[in-house]
Parts: sequence; structure tokens; C-alpha cells
Amino acid sequence: MTVGKILKNIWKNRKFRNIILLIILIIVFVITLIINLSPSEPRKSERVLICAECKHTDMFKFVTIKSLRCPECKVGKMKYGMKCRKCDYEFPYMDTALSEAKKKKISEIRKQRIMDRRCPNCGDIEVIPISNFVWKKKRK
Ligand SMILES: [Zn+2]
Ligand SMILES: [Zn+2]
Repeated sequence: MTVGKILKNIWKNRKFRNIILLIILIIVFVITLIINLSPSEPRKSERVLICAECKHTDMFKFVTIKSLRCPECKVGKMKYGMKCRKCDYEFPYMDTALSEAKKKKISEIRKQRIMDRRCPNCGDIEVIPISNFVWKKKRK
């Protein structure tokens, strides 16, 4: 009997086949479990942030912006850095619309959202997030 024939005979045995399939399933299950359990770094985003209090501006790597405090003044919350395309003014995006969303009407929230996006310097609405690329280039 050749190895192939033996394997074929084993395969023909339904009970044995089921056991083999079960073993394969268990192996696959264990492997996926190990992969899922292995500690993976939480995904960090990198953005230019501005302190709401002292306007300290820097590039930050963070998981969530909510609990991020300013390393300069230690009290200010870090906000997404925005830049006005008209006057080049850079400012923290306060997002008051979101924080006050629970106590206000939808129409008011919408209005607030538009106000949040306005340049505090010239009032223009052409405001964009400060790009990481531009920030890095400026720093060099
Ligand atoms: Zn600060
Ligand atoms: Zn402006």
C-alpha cells in the first residue's frame, strides 16, 4: 500500500474525516484567537492642533483628541488647527455646536456649526484644517 492509498482509505472513513475537519477548525479558531489577543497599538492620528487657551500650536500624535491637554499651559484643551484661506489666520476649531448639541434645537446647532467654521479674524467661511504637510514644511 502506498501512502496515497492509505490516506485515501483514511479519508473514506467518515468518522476519521470528521475528526480531521474538527482538528482543522480548532487550529483555525486558535490562530484567529491568538491574532486577536495579541496587543496591537491603537491607531493614532497625526494632526496639527492648537490650544484653546494659549494658542500654542504643534503637531500631535493622538488616539482621541478629547482628553488632550496643552503641554505649554497645562490647562487648555487641544483643538484641531484651522486656517483661513483668505487671511491666513490660524485658530483652534472650537466645535461648540457639538458640545452644545444636547441642549439646542437642530436649527440652532446648524447655525452654530457655521459660526464655528468662520474665521475669527476676518469672518470668512473659507476655512480649512491646517495640513500636516504644510506645517512640516513651515517648520524646516
Ligand atoms: Zn495652552
Ligand atoms: Zn480670515
